[in-house]
Amino acid sequence: MKRRYVLTFPPEIVDEPITYNLIRNYDLKINILKAEINPGKEGNLLLEFESEKANLDKGINYLEEKNIACLPIEAKIRFDQQACIHCGSCTAVCFSRALTMHKLSWELIFEPEKCVACGLCVKACPLELFHLDF
Ligand code: SF4
Ligand code: SF4
Repeated sequence: MKRRYVLTFPPEIVDEPITYNLIRNYDLKINILKAEINPGKEGNLLLEFESEKANLDKGINYLEEKNIACLPIEAKIRFDQQACIHCGSCTAVCFSRALTMHKLSWELIFEPEKCVACGLCVKACPLELFHLDF
């Protein structure tokens, strides 16, 4: 299975080899999609994990023991679907195709599990319907 999570690191452990330990100890394949790490400050990583569910669960337990917040990407991007007017502006900037238009109804389809937290939809939506917490 593949899942995307946003990890938020407390300042005191931003220099620990967390991703190395996840790969070595829990046999996780990891793709780093976005990183904001600054020495002495809180850090954020968007990671895509590929593994058996049991290994992923163990890896997430390890992160929580390290006091690293670990939330699925779906929890980090909010979208006010009720207010959407289906203008399509956001789909033009979403290169990961988390935002697409339905080919028959021309209604917006949002698949947050494909999001890479680029934030471009936040600026593209004229109604400001997206909020990204990264
Ligand atoms: S943050 Fe970027 S990848 Fe995610 S839905 Fe918006 S435009 Fe698409
Ligand atoms: S830009 Fe905003 S209003 Fe237009 S389709 Fe996207 S979310 Fe809906």
